[in-house]
Amino acid sequence: MKNIALLSLLLLLLGCNPQTGKGPTGLDEIPTYSALPNMPKNVILMIGDGMGLTQITAGMIKNDNKLNLERCQFTGLHKSYSYDNLITDSAAGATAFACGIKTYNQAIGVGPDTLPRKTILELLTRAGYKTGLVATSTIVHATPASFYAHVANRKQYEDIATALSTCNVDYFVGGGLKYFNRRENDERDLVKEMMDNGYQMSNYFEADFDSVEPDPTKKFGYLTADNDPLMASQGRNYLQPATEEALQFLKAKSADDGFFLMVEGSQIDWGGHGNDANYIVTEMIDFDNTIGKVLDFAQADGETLVVITADHETGGFAINPGSTKEEIIAAFTTKNHTGTMIPVFAYGPGASLFSGIYENTEIYYKIRHALGMPVMEPGR
Ligand code: MG
Ligand code: ZN
Repeated sequence: MKNIALLSLLLLLLGCNPQTGKGPTGLDEIPTYSALPNMPKNVILMIGDGMGLTQITAGMIKNDNKLNLERCQFTGLHKSYSYDNLITDSAAGATAFACGIKTYNQAIGVGPDTLPRKTILELLTRAGYKTGLVATSTIVHATPASFYAHVANRKQYEDIATALSTCNVDYFVGGGLKYFNRRENDERDLVKEMMDNGYQMSNYFEADFDSVEPDPTKKFGYLTADNDPLMASQGRNYLQPATEEALQFLKAKSADDGFFLMVEGSQIDWGGHGNDANYIVTEMIDFDNTIGKVLDFAQADGETLVVITADHETGGFAINPGSTKEEIIAAFTTKNHTGTMIPVFAYGPGASLFSGIYENTEIYYKIRHALGMPVMEPGR
């Protein structure tokens, strides 16, 4: 045991991934991809947190054996392990997509050395793209946070909110109002600060999402809950309208520049942690309904790449013998995440890049390639 710990430490000092002995990206070298016949103008990355193959299958069974996901033209599998653990958490999992680097569990937008790595959202903002984030967790939760914040630990919610307030994202919808306007570590009111900096801000206390009209001459933020949003089964119903609004808003605002939107079905994971098949299924169907609207947009637009995947599987979920389409006999191996490979679905120009089996970090590399901004140096 001691020797294993020493070996891990040595590999860490050498900048190698203790899971594979390879560099922090999990890759031997910069991957190269063939030139695309058509390049996308916009990219929409949809993450079903904890959405393994069984979560997808259960949602499909309970949705009359059909999902919008099936409209995707290309499918692949990614290897989800993190820098320090064969079983990733959502922080390292999203950082792999956002920064192209495998990092330690709990890390948000930082490498194994805890130093910040530029995220795809930051990179594209700098390149003139408009950007958006929509989640059914708090907007400071690990998955969305990994696209704009750089903190050593995912629990630094107030620090993450501070990072959001200055990251210049054009549109965001998610929970977590209290981390902005009733902070424990300082007296700042980030909602007010953001309004002073050109944001139109609203929240569920002030107005229903549907009654707010985002003004594309401003940036837009809407906080859907004080802390975690409700479950879909309790009446949470904003994922689909907030995503559709994001598409119209970002398309109008981006004009010739293109946009990047990340949409997270956050609570599929929470159903897995709870070993609750009904929770998984209702969240999966909510996410898939949103996928349908996104694919409608991409189909009509013709210039949008849609990539749909998960960070990891949660629960070791199985559909056991005796299951019927009326009733799934669910089994679970754990209340935590598991290490199984994760499906990737892609639609639109560039979608062919996403077939095959590859490291989770390659999602980042492939998106950059599709946008004509290939990576020159791994992890940069
Ligand atoms: Mg998440
Ligand atoms: Zn989880």
